[in-house]
Amino acid sequence: MNAKQRTRQLEVWDKKYTWHPFTQMKEWCEGPIVVIEKGEGNYLVDTQGRRYLDGVSSLWCNVHGHRVKKIDSAIQSQLKKIAHSTFLGLSHEPAILLSKKLVEIAPKGLTRVFYSDSGSASVEVALKMAYQYWQLKGQRSRKLFLKLNNAYHGDTLGSVSVGGIDLFHEVYGPLTFKTLKIDAPYYYRDKFKGSEGDYAEYCAAKVERILRKQGRKICALVVEPLIQGAAGMLRQPKGYLSRLGKLTKKYNVLLIVDEVATGFGRTGTMFACGQESVSPDFLCIAKGVTGGYLPLSATLTTEGVYDAFLGDYGEFKHFFHGHTYSANPLACAAALANLEIFEKEGTLEQLKPKIRILTEELEKFKRLPHVGDIRQAGFMVGIELVKDTKTKTPYPLAQKVGAMVGLLARKHGVIIRPLGNVVVLMPPLSISESELYKLCRVVYRCIKQITELR
Ligand SMILES: *Cc1c(COP(=O)(O)O)cnc(C)c1O
Repeated sequence: MNAKQRTRQLEVWDKKYTWHPFTQMKEWCEGPIVVIEKGEGNYLVDTQGRRYLDGVSSLWCNVHGHRVKKIDSAIQSQLKKIAHSTFLGLSHEPAILLSKKLVEIAPKGLTRVFYSDSGSASVEVALKMAYQYWQLKGQRSRKLFLKLNNAYHGDTLGSVSVGGIDLFHEVYGPLTFKTLKIDAPYYYRDKFKGSEGDYAEYCAAKVERILRKQGRKICALVVEPLIQGAAGMLRQPKGYLSRLGKLTKKYNVLLIVDEVATGFGRTGTMFACGQESVSPDFLCIAKGVTGGYLPLSATLTTEGVYDAFLGDYGEFKHFFHGHTYSANPLACAAALANLEIFEKEGTLEQLKPKIRILTEELEKFKRLPHVGDIRQAGFMVGIELVKDTKTKTPYPLAQKVGAMVGLLARKHGVIIRPLGNVVVLMPPLSISESELYKLCRVVYRCIKQITELR
């Protein structure tokens, strides 16, 4: 079988047997599909040998590129020892070393690491821990979670309950628990008339009003720091996150920071929290923790939360939660290698000039007649396309303008995946300067070509 025949066979079987995430399968089955076979650096290669620049880091998780020698060999040497052994009632070296490392690099005050296997699960864990914490502390009325409009924390029902994207979450409403919701910053579409500098104060005041009134009923505030990813890369104004940090302390509400997308350098620092000197009570990490190699997540918390769960066995205060593959050793070995690369190769230092290039290149996009807003936090970028920039009228979602830009980019050897009308760029931190220019060049042309007609 040649490559073409093999691809055709795989395509038939894919369409016959699989169901893809966040995908209208009717449409999927009608169109051509790309079957990825391997990765090389910042490129993906399909079964027919076509190469694509990985413009969204294989959905926001890849960090140092694909087939990274250090991570490959860390997994290989762990594989020679054992692929998996449980973390329930037993321990193993990769997880122990990783916990120590994570505590060392995490915002101060986070001293305990609890493992799970997806970003959604890391948020579930934080929610359950926060809830149980107040129950154990005797403040039983603290049962409500405070969440932000447009938030995304994953797709399991607990994380959906604290999510705020109606398109994804509305249908499951009856299955979710009750929460309190606040408007999230979205300067471009907010009716707020003041400057961006005053916007943080304005948004934080809304949070304080709820905390003042209902603080004693609130268990925790859940937030994506600096930028709400899945909502369309909604950048928060400077000072917003630090205000949330102060307000939650003032009203004695726990702060859960979901760094599943922002963690591991994506916004320019190891964690986004670091940019606003916030030390949350819970830090959720996943996507980039293994360099984008294997499913692993963790919820970090403080000694104060951890201590509340201590007691005699018969008090049954312990945290009744765990997954079969919690702290999988191969994934932990990959994560350790990932962090070692950050240290040894100065990944964050090398990122700085690349972020500057990206910012400069994005300036050019402002000239395009259908680019309404450009939002950036380091290597997380959203370019919001609108039908009319004067009135900010959006394109109807069904028109799929973002998706069309993505499909066209693919023809030019670049993989991106939009969020509705927002074109997303989120390259691996390892992208070279010339690849970065290429990414911007191709995406610029595709946006121009697609929006020109509409
Ligand atoms: C992707 C994401 C999640 C969910 O992670 P999964 O591993 O897909 O379950 C949670 N929170 C944020 C901020 C994310 O971007």
